[in-house]
Amino acid sequence: MSIKRYNAFSDELKQVFGCRVHRISVDAGFTCPNRDGTVGSDGCIYCGGAGSGSFGIARGLPVAAQLEDGKEVMVRKYKAKKFIAYFQPYSNTYAPPEELRAIYDEALAVPDIVGLIVGTRPDCLPPAVLDLLTEYARRTWFWLELGLQSPVERTLRLMNRGHGFAASAEAVERCRERGIRVCTHVILGLPGETREEMLATAGILNDLGVDGVKLHLLHVMKGTRLAGMYEQGEVKCMERDDYVGLVCDFLERLNPRISIQRLTGDGGRDLVAPLWSLAKFEVLNAIDGELARRGTRQGDKTDAPRFTV
Ligand code: SF4
Repeated sequence: MSIKRYNAFSDELKQVFGCRVHRISVDAGFTCPNRDGTVGSDGCIYCGGAGSGSFGIARGLPVAAQLEDGKEVMVRKYKAKKFIAYFQPYSNTYAPPEELRAIYDEALAVPDIVGLIVGTRPDCLPPAVLDLLTEYARRTWFWLELGLQSPVERTLRLMNRGHGFAASAEAVERCRERGIRVCTHVILGLPGETREEMLATAGILNDLGVDGVKLHLLHVMKGTRLAGMYEQGEVKCMERDDYVGLVCDFLERLNPRISIQRLTGDGGRDLVAPLWSLAKFEVLNAIDGELARRGTRQGDKTDAPRFTV
């Protein structure tokens, strides 16, 4: 039984594999249609150009070598035994299916790799790629991570995502039809978005039937267009207590079936703001503390009056 007041993904992994399972981030050299000119060239306003969440990954090394390097570190640090290959930066389904198959198979052939997590955009899932992912969903412990970010069209335009909410909703539906588990990324604190709109997102995820969610605090990263807006005073970052309260409100409205795979972001060395988020464990402890103070858990308020976007 978890001590968490939410459905923590780490607990699910322990139940399935009988031990802690470590994710190793891999950069397989993909690009993104919002960067290569297919959809756009400038990318999302918060993206540093090396792909979201790319720091610390050795782009250029073969996938198997990246995984072996990652394993060595995890074994040394945590005596880790089992690992999941996490294809993280850029759009990791943005290639012909035969290329994707070769890359995913290279990862699964590495000893002690017990599953795959593949991050992508909703507009990088043509039917042939979905067919391929269906195979992996049957063959291994497989999750697709989808950058939904927000259901608010105004926000998606401001972020220069290059797709609307309908693309995300359709992608989730196509995956559900095929038995592919989907974890959606959502960013809280996006410019111009109201607290009610952010909380409405929880109900929308329930309706979509997603299997997991990663909540990210909006991070302003060096060298991004968002950083320029921040310096001009056009964008404000959330305060820590506001974020903690919002995450708790969000979890209370979220279906308890949905696994929680992240509750804040990793800013790393290029973080401009908010700097309080660097103390990640303090933020996570504050979320646990606030849920305990309220005496509530994930899903306790799924029947609360719904906000709309
Ligand atoms: S979709 Fe991801 S990789 Fe592409 S521009 Fe946006 S954040 Fe960057």
